[in-house]
Amino acid sequence: MGKVYLVGAGPGDPELLTVKAARILASADIVLYDALVTPQVLALVSAKARVIDVGKRCGQKLLTQQEINAYLVHAAAHHAVVVRLKSGDPLIFGRAGEEIEALRNAGVDFEIVPGITSALAAAAAARISLTDRRFASQVLFTTAHRKGGAFDLGWARTISADATAAIYMPGAAYAELANALVENGLDPQTPCVVVSRAAQETQRILRTDIAGLGSLTGVGAPALLIVGRVAHSDAASIAADVWQQLRDNSAQDNQQIA
Ligand code: SAH
Repeated sequence: MGKVYLVGAGPGDPELLTVKAARILASADIVLYDALVTPQVLALVSAKARVIDVGKRCGQKLLTQQEINAYLVHAAAHHAVVVRLKSGDPLIFGRAGEEIEALRNAGVDFEIVPGITSALAAAAAARISLTDRRFASQVLFTTAHRKGGAFDLGWARTISADATAAIYMPGAAYAELANALVENGLDPQTPCVVVSRAAQETQRILRTDIAGLGSLTGVGAPALLIVGRVAHSDAASIAADVWQQLRDNSAQDNQQIA
């Protein structure tokens, strides 16, 4: 009997993997990975390993969750090191609960290797403290869940003004999402940051407020939305942006001179 490792692949940059995750990938016999795991992370998988995409494409599942559960149990019977590789952290919106249950029921040995969840990668990219004590005392990891087509944002009705919401899977309908957030009691002026492809080469950071969310264009998936007073571009981040602009300008000037 082998061992199954539920491993967090982090947001995309292989340097953001844990040392342990990198070591396990390098010794894997078989890897089952999700759609959001980047090629740069997959490049660290042992050359001898079988590497299998079990992710979703355009809402179309390659394998059902039940099939994945069964596959993991089956793989553990045939391989020593079985890796279930999930983007971010495996325990955050990663359906790890069902896999853990299946492994436990089948008596398969397993271990969970945490990863950097995208809320933390997005906050780092946008340079905001999710629990900046001047503005927030709690963080909610949540989703822009839909029920029968409509947003189901019950959490927004009970959230307090000093909470930061990290919204996974915001989808592409930002105007509709903004309306739903306001209908559920959030102030339209609540600051927001959308970080698309956090910790990847094509990372983008868009700052606005709920009222302005609908006007955002070109937000590439995957994206994470941070809502709350901490998302306000405070002095530190404004200074950083200005600094970046100065550097960009001087790089352009140098090019022109050259
Ligand atoms: N287990 C993952 C979440 C999987 S759900 C984690 O801990 O991050 C998929 C959602 O994660 C996406 O819809 C998006 O909201 C978010 N996500 C994953 N990778 C991301 C990235 N590099 N940048 C921004 N958001 C990301």
